[in-house]
Amino acid sequence: RDDPVARAADLLARARRVTVLTGAGVSTDSGIPDFRGPQGVWTRNPAAERLATLQAYVEDPEVRRESWRQRAVHPVWDARPGPAHTALVDLERSGRLLALLTQNIDELHQAAGSSPDLVVELHGTLHHVACLSCGARAPMSEALARVAAGEDDPPCPHCGGILKSATISFGQELDAGVLMRARRAAVEADVLLAVGTSLGVHPAAGVVDLAAAAGASVVIVNGEPTPYDPVADVVLRGGIGEVLPRLVRDLPAATD
Ligand code: NAD
Repeated sequence: RDDPVARAADLLARARRVTVLTGAGVSTDSGIPDFRGPQGVWTRNPAAERLATLQAYVEDPEVRRESWRQRAVHPVWDARPGPAHTALVDLERSGRLLALLTQNIDELHQAAGSSPDLVVELHGTLHHVACLSCGARAPMSEALARVAAGEDDPPCPHCGGILKSATISFGQELDAGVLMRARRAAVEADVLLAVGTSLGVHPAAGVVDLAAAAGASVVIVNGEPTPYDPVADVVLRGGIGEVLPRLVRDLPAATD
């Protein structure tokens, strides 16, 4: 078939195990800007990238204060799932979703109705904080209440260490168990579907290579080219909010 959406839909229809990797592009329709897209936070203000490095956060109290100011008004708090999140719930309902690997920290997949046990948060979540010294976790809402009450850099209530959102900053290692689970899901997949990610952040983007090397078909849905387009069986350009619902619309239930 010539229509790339139909070719990609065929690959999905014939697959028994689909692993999905999502990035910030699935959430831009929900009002959360991405980092590297045309309207991305770093495209518009390259200096903002420093805020996302662990070293600056640990060394510079002003970076932490600015981070807390930004977290307090983060667009994630008002965001609702969009058409891409819903389409991935439909993919799960068709009975072929092995895992939903996400680089996003917004929990919108779970809010849309994706099974929490299938969602693998490679880069953590903004909805919790973690202490960089003792590892204690707490809801973000508790930390933001302290910020609202006047603390501009609230320390860990248990050990006095530096508190940060439970997200992975540059220079910070991914959770080993989480990464292993993601890699296993990539290797076991018949189809790896990458959506809304520039595939420029490692090790997350590496799951595409792993899946391809293990024999999976690769489908990429993104508005801009990615470094993995050459290994993809089908590349779909265009708005994710339109393309992804079309892709899963007529998906038959999976058969064993
Ligand atoms: P990225 O910013 O590097 O890439 C996003 C890609 O999506 C870009 O190539 C952009 O062109 C494309 N895109 C955006 N909106 C689109 C749309 N509506 N239709 C089609 N294409 C669209 O994001 P990434 O690859 O996820 O990596 C960046 C890092 O940023 C990740 O580590 C992630 O943790 C973090 N992040 C998360 C969120 C979130 O949770 N929603 C938001 C911003 C950044």
